[in-house]
Amino acid sequence: MNGRQGAVPPRFFLPAAVGLAAGLPYVLSGRLRAALLTGPGPLDFTVWLVVAGALLLSPLQGYRETRRLAAALEREADLAKKRAERDYQERLSGLLLEKARLDVILKHMADGILLVDQRRRIVLMNPAAEQMLGISRHEALGRDHLEITHHFDLDERLARVLATGVPETLEIRRARPQQQILEARVSLAGSAQERSALVMLRDVTRARQLEQMRKDFVANVTHELRTPLTSIQGFAETLLEGALEDPDTARHFVEIMHRESSHLSALIDELLDLSRVESGKFRLQRRPTPPAELIEAAVSRLAPKAEKKGIRLTAEVPGGLPPVDGDPDRLIQVLSNLVDNAVKYTPADGRVTVSAWKSEGGVRIAVQDTGPGIPQADLGRIFERFYRVDKARSRATGGTGLGLAIAKHIVEAHGGAIEVASEVGRGSTFTVILPTAGDETRPAASRP
Ligand code: ADP
Repeated sequence: MNGRQGAVPPRFFLPAAVGLAAGLPYVLSGRLRAALLTGPGPLDFTVWLVVAGALLLSPLQGYRETRRLAAALEREADLAKKRAERDYQERLSGLLLEKARLDVILKHMADGILLVDQRRRIVLMNPAAEQMLGISRHEALGRDHLEITHHFDLDERLARVLATGVPETLEIRRARPQQQILEARVSLAGSAQERSALVMLRDVTRARQLEQMRKDFVANVTHELRTPLTSIQGFAETLLEGALEDPDTARHFVEIMHRESSHLSALIDELLDLSRVESGKFRLQRRPTPPAELIEAAVSRLAPKAEKKGIRLTAEVPGGLPPVDGDPDRLIQVLSNLVDNAVKYTPADGRVTVSAWKSEGGVRIAVQDTGPGIPQADLGRIFERFYRVDKARSRATGGTGLGLAIAKHIVEAHGGAIEVASEVGRGSTFTVILPTAGDETRPAASRP
């Protein structure tokens, strides 16, 4: 722009300079005075023509230069305007892109986000928060957060954070829309003039449940280990205090101690087994296995026990069943546990039947007994660790309360499922559903 302005004057002054160069020597030489007194000659006319032409040309040239300059300025202004427009568009699309990215992040965040203004009204809410608080954004925006969260402690914290700027964390327990525990972190957001507070909500229900389960498990293990130990210790002390002198009593006590120590050993074995299957560290040695092979192994293992108790234990396996894709040792362990339970809880003269058939989900193996059955209220919990319907009976029969929990883990590690149906006074049926070999429908995660 400046370069152009600097280039104009020489061209603009060139005619004037020519006029001056022609006219000045003419005036200085006194020819003008002579021409005025005596009349002009041809030279005078030539000089005057040159000077007049130069004088006329000079403003014309100046006018042209000014127009050129104006046009150049206009072009520059046009370019600058276009550049500014392009810059503005670029900045705008940059901002829109950034907003779109933020929207995607907010939309897909597992944590709930709430933004409240100085008066603690909701100004922003993401889908996770909508789901946690059971309200849509459209209903919530602009409303006092208390109308939605109904949490006075949160209200107090928000007021404090807005006043002091120091972040705070609290736990929110909600009963609706479902039982849940939310961890809320409140921090200051916005500018000094336009203060707002950000609430990050995290669903910690599952984590707290797991924590509670772990505590319960430790308490259960301690209790289960202490019971037989206390018994062994008590009988040992009684023996030492003199019962040893009476051979019949001593024998009886030692038998009890032996039974209790066997129970302790079984409990420790099952605990170790449970910890292995739960940690997912164990590897299944899978191979296509005929269901009849598994059933035969479990039934022959428990046949002496059933016979001793006077229980009719039978297997009904049709020919031509497809092989299941499983670890035979582990599956025999599962079936043995189910048959053992059936024999254990069914009174004398009862019946235990193991049957198998092909179904849509794979092969089903059912262990049915004519025992006492399980109350409806307990059915949902019997696969939990240490859960027993009748604690006394379970302990009396050497039960640990871990068998079904281990069985469930093993079956699920195969991509299968275990179900129970029962009626008090009529008996129970435990059914294991296993994928058949070459069945690709089971989840990949379940293929260790
Ligand atoms: P346990 O070692 O006590 O048998 P399990 O985990 O194998 O532990 O079983 C859990 C509980 O389920 C048992 O204590 C018992 O109350 C109940 N149960 C399991 N199988 C049967 C059955 N066939 N009939 C009645 N109750 C059963």
